[in-house]
Amino acid sequence: MRQARIERTKTVCTYCGVGCSFEVWTKDRQILRIQPTSQAPVNGISTCIKGKFGWDFVNSEERLTKPLIRQGDRFVEATWEEALTLIASRLKEIKDMHGPNSIGYISSSKCSNEENYVFQKFARAVMGSNNVDNCSRYCQSPATAGLMRTVGIGGDSGTIRDIAAAELVMVVGANPAESHPVLATRVKRAHKLHGQKLIVVDLRKHELGRRADVFLRPKPGTDLIWVSAVTKYILDQGWEDREFLNGRVNGVREYEASLDKYTLAYAEEKTGLSQNELIRIATMIHEAQSVCILWAMGVTQHMGATDTSTAISNLLLMTGNYGRPGTGAYPLRGHNNVQGACDFGTMPAWFPGYEAVQDEKIRAKYEKAWGVSLPPDPGYNNHQMIEGIHKGELKAMYLFGEEMALVDSNANHVHEAFNKLDFFVVQDIFFTKTAQFADVVLPAAPSLEKDGTFVNTERRIQRFYKVFEPLGDSRPDWMIIQDVANRLGAGWNYTHPSEIMAEAASLAVVFAGVSYERLDNWNSLVWPVLENGQDTPLLFTEKFGFPDGKAKLIPVDWTPPFEPGPEYDLHLNNGRLLEHFHEGNMTYRSKGITKKVPSEWLEVSPELARERGISSGARVRLMSPYGQVEVRVEVTDRVWGNELYLTMNSPDVDSAVNMLTSSYHDRITHTPAYKEMNVKMEVL
Ligand code: SF4
Repeated sequence: MRQARIERTKTVCTYCGVGCSFEVWTKDRQILRIQPTSQAPVNGISTCIKGKFGWDFVNSEERLTKPLIRQGDRFVEATWEEALTLIASRLKEIKDMHGPNSIGYISSSKCSNEENYVFQKFARAVMGSNNVDNCSRYCQSPATAGLMRTVGIGGDSGTIRDIAAAELVMVVGANPAESHPVLATRVKRAHKLHGQKLIVVDLRKHELGRRADVFLRPKPGTDLIWVSAVTKYILDQGWEDREFLNGRVNGVREYEASLDKYTLAYAEEKTGLSQNELIRIATMIHEAQSVCILWAMGVTQHMGATDTSTAISNLLLMTGNYGRPGTGAYPLRGHNNVQGACDFGTMPAWFPGYEAVQDEKIRAKYEKAWGVSLPPDPGYNNHQMIEGIHKGELKAMYLFGEEMALVDSNANHVHEAFNKLDFFVVQDIFFTKTAQFADVVLPAAPSLEKDGTFVNTERRIQRFYKVFEPLGDSRPDWMIIQDVANRLGAGWNYTHPSEIMAEAASLAVVFAGVSYERLDNWNSLVWPVLENGQDTPLLFTEKFGFPDGKAKLIPVDWTPPFEPGPEYDLHLNNGRLLEHFHEGNMTYRSKGITKKVPSEWLEVSPELARERGISSGARVRLMSPYGQVEVRVEVTDRVWGNELYLTMNSPDVDSAVNMLTSSYHDRITHTPAYKEMNVKMEVL
């Protein structure tokens, strides 16, 4: 009998936005080991626990392997032919009856760039709608919008190498040691061995907070105020970079005037940070030759999130901290390909490469290439789609690789919307909570079962290679989308994702020089990529992303956080665990990880635990105006006072944080204000 050979295949991690790559050693369908190598451009020989042990889900017995069609309250297995024919006929019927904008398309930041590209093309060119969005709406859209306003490009300014090279790193509302572990090790190493200074500002004293030179804990939702007060203090001291401002930035005088109200006294009153603490931050920024600011959901999941992200970018501009190694803005992307999903056009206002759908010339370019006429106005985003269903405007939805029933805020409201849909297609690797609301469920293949590319938080495009054949009858998402499109008359004939990338590169200027040949094996490219293949690891060295090459300072105002009422007396923060990923569909099916961390928990401060007479292991019920959950308590000094912290990776509705969150959202991007939630707590 022939012995199965051991194969070694390069892949890119399917979890966070750091974008680690490594070899997967396999024998038949068995994963023998994950082997990082020094050739990996981001991580070298490092990985975290998820990258190393979080792959069992690929062979889980719970994988979807056949299409399913709803019959009443149950689902029955179907052939691909039956499922695809039903989808095509129902989508056509609904479009003909209610118009192209009666259907919404939710894309996946866990799937490849090529899959996102074909999905937005399907929505726009085949179905005639810009109602297409991805889960960046739930996390980093405000950061992207804040950077687009000020520096003209929404991505990270440089690479993780730049973060490690900075003299000062400031981390605001982010927990990289758990959410971006390999990036955090670069910061820890630079801090410990190379004298890098570290400021952490967060509600919770997580690992980087404990290591920081300065750790500050402002009142929830007040980041814009202290950032602006620090900027004003720098200006008052004459510490701004006047040469940089004169030569490279517009709107300086108006912005400086707008800072008048952000005095140290005002900031102290509103944020709870002392004037001395604010002066210390300002002084450290002034004394550092190079400053990077990292931020994440602690900033972006608020009603004023775009403005706070803008304030952070303003601070960097005022101090000349853009365009040099070791400087810049780093909103940390959560999912492995949330950057790529946006870059390749699954957004209601943007074609691939952030080319505006409202721009006639751009639209004409795509119309010529795709041979169709395209809708001129931006479509609905995720949030507007849910509201559109409730209003009766949206009748159908096609969603792939996104557990919207657990990760969108105010989950009960989302579930009610799903129940109102006339037709709902869900494409995923598991029968998710979202799939339970569907009419047709299609079995998709995870990254180890297909070829493709991802973009990490640094804008770095990397290839991953097929390790296994798709399990059962499951198929790569791009193939499924192409089949649906062709049943609706598209006439596509992509035979490999490289052809999809070639098409995207021929259309989107920032990907002009991207090709599978240039990305072969361990090679990678950081966009923008010129036609000759030259990439751009560090942005803004010569010009910013606006036509005149200059940045813009934008005045911003504070939006007070949402508070539901005095009976909800505890503030509930939430975030990721190191070991689990997002809604847990993959990591809770990975045995090594589940054995180590079998369930979620609620962090309660020692003082609150004493007051309520509870200790670690107690069970409590949390209640908000929108729902309730029951969870296990962990008493820890990571949180203090009336601040609670609930891990957000629960795969169960009974303990999922979004049973509690509201539909309040950032006023500009509609990103949910997940971090603005007060609850009451009952001991069980
Ligand atoms: Fe994967 Fe992120 Fe861990 Fe790297 S740091 S192995 S990308 S989860």
